[in-house]
Amino acid sequence: MTAHGEVLASLQGVHKRYGAVRALDGVDLELRAGQVLALLGPNGAGKTTAISLLLGLLRADAGQVQLFGHDPQQLAARRGIGVMLQSAALPETLNVGELIQLSASYFPAPRGLADVAALAGIEDLLKRRYGKLSGGQQRRVQFALAVCGRPRLLFLDEPTVGLDLPARQQLWATVRALVAEGTAVVLTTHYLEEAERLADRVCVLLRGRIVSDGSVDALRARVIHRSIRCVSTLDVAVVAAWPGVMQISRDGDYLQLRSDRVESVVRQLLQADPALSGLEVQPAGLGEAFTDLTLSDAAQTQREAA
Ligand code: ATP
Repeated sequence: MTAHGEVLASLQGVHKRYGAVRALDGVDLELRAGQVLALLGPNGAGKTTAISLLLGLLRADAGQVQLFGHDPQQLAARRGIGVMLQSAALPETLNVGELIQLSASYFPAPRGLADVAALAGIEDLLKRRYGKLSGGQQRRVQFALAVCGRPRLLFLDEPTVGLDLPARQQLWATVRALVAEGTAVVLTTHYLEEAERLADRVCVLLRGRIVSDGSVDALRARVIHRSIRCVSTLDVAVVAAWPGVMQISRDGDYLQLRSDRVESVVRQLLQADPALSGLEVQPAGLGEAFTDLTLSDAAQTQREAA
């Protein structure tokens, strides 16, 4: 088994252009055993390019890409990975059990069929033709194919799109169990809740650069505001003018605020409305942290262009 924390794959100072487009602009990234790294970023940020380099599907213009200490284009290195991409072209006429056995045959020490089926929650699908399955069932089979080779490094690109909640939760539980055994996982997702639940580290890519790399909590801490919610009859326009109130809206009986000075705003709310009730203060979620980073990058770009 791989020691937790060992670097299994990396990008170092990597640049990649497509004509005039700088898809990656000096990216450093390390994937470690026993860690889930969530790679986040808006459309076109460079996520697919980074993953394609690690999978050996593309070559970097400059910088170093390593997979298990080798060039990712070497077959030996690629045998250690499992991949679930956004789209998969699989033979529709094979049944699920045959597909898994075929995929497993490429790997030196694959999992047994029953083991794979249990991991992906597809025991009841083994005899069904792949082409006749629903979108969500096909997605679960694709996950099974990604884990059948006992990969040390697992790439999951939007893995739970189209899955219902129980299937999503099962996939999360399986990923956690694999990670506890030392598997490294790279996750790209637009469901920030998924990143929040699974990721040990979150890297945010914007316009080909990594603008944040750390724990979910560290990313959240970069956003100083918190949200306040309470039942109050106070006038929105009056509260909006108070210092520290960044945003305010009314939702029925509730006032909803974002503030970077929560304590003083709460004190003022309680003084101004003695009948105030249902007070809740919440830290910023990953979604807000991510949005703020994206917005501050967009503002910076505008300043640079001006
Ligand atoms: P998404 O969330 O939309 O999948 P992404 O973060 O994966 O986006 P990439 O697909 O890596 O982004 O694209 C990064 C940039 O490189 C984008 O500006 C994209 O238009 C450009 N790009 C990607 N592939 C090619 C290509 N084959 N030819 C030309 N430009 C490309």
